Amino acid sequence: MSHSHAGHHHGKHDNTGFRLALAGVLTLGFVCFEVVAGLYANSLALLTDAAHNLTDVLALGLSWYAHRLSSRPANANKTFGYHRVGILVALLNSTTLVIIAFGIFHEAWGRFSAPPVVDSDVLISVGSAALFVNLFTAWLVSHGSKNDLNLHSTFLHLLGDVFSTLGAIAAGVVIWLTGKYWLDPAASSLIALLILWNAWNILGETLTILLESTPADIDMSKMVEDFLQVEGVLGVHDLHVWSLSRSLRMLSAHVQVLDIPISQASLIQTQIKDVINKEYGIEHCTLQMECEGCDNGRLYCEKV
Ligand SMILES: [Zn+2]
Ligand SMILES: [Zn+2]
Ligand SMILES: [Zn+2]
Repeated sequence: MSHSHAGHHHGKHDNTGFRLALAGVLTLGFVCFEVVAGLYANSLALLTDAAHNLTDVLALGLSWYAHRLSSRPANANKTFGYHRVGILVALLNSTTLVIIAFGIFHEAWGRFSAPPVVDSDVLISVGSAALFVNLFTAWLVSHGSKNDLNLHSTFLHLLGDVFSTLGAIAAGVVIWLTGKYWLDPAASSLIALLILWNAWNILGETLTILLESTPADIDMSKMVEDFLQVEGVLGVHDLHVWSLSRSLRMLSAHVQVLDIPISQASLIQTQIKDVINKEYGIEHCTLQMECEGCDNGRLYCEKV
């Protein structure tokens, strides 16, 4: 068995937790303000934005919690650590957002048939304030979001909010100019579409990880060739590549070699691990060296 641990553990100290907490508290304060303003102005667009921002508070809170958990070290009960917590949070977030989007469509549909009067002054001014809050919280979360699906989904979410808030402001301006109140549910529907689009993409990515799919950028037939390029490797089977989280990939495989001493087989192992790490960014590599090949000689697992 070969086991590489270099650098895949999550022990770095940063202020991501603080940024997430600050973004959450700010957004929560703004939600209260926006609900009052939305009711006062009778604007579905503002109430939609408030509902949306409330899910942001939830998302930020869960992201913060997931970040704390995933920086906890692995232990005897959780030998993989807590990396998947972030994936579960992303799954929960995106599912909630899909449900909320359909709720908004339903409410907007009712308002299209008889558009109620909307106070466009409040819609414009509160929408502008929402824009600043969204931009600021998105900036807070953008730090460190590149390799963390949990943070990345939250960041995309907040970025989407910037555009949806712009839509609400634009609707407010046109309502102010023309008095076309149906623009309020129209803006809500567009915001809901954007929510749905974001949620759908994140849902797809989390399901890919939870189903242990091969990461999209990895070509398995090329990987087999890379295995066979290493001198002394006669064959490879029972090959598995999966993601524990967005940034942490795992590989396990059976490698067939001649009946050689373990010291020589270890050299081959090291070479394979180097190639796999360099070519595919996989640091956690478990290789089973065999000289005769086991019963299950198939390339991928086909056991019943
Ligand atoms: Zn390990
Ligand atoms: Zn949002
Ligand atoms: Zn085997």
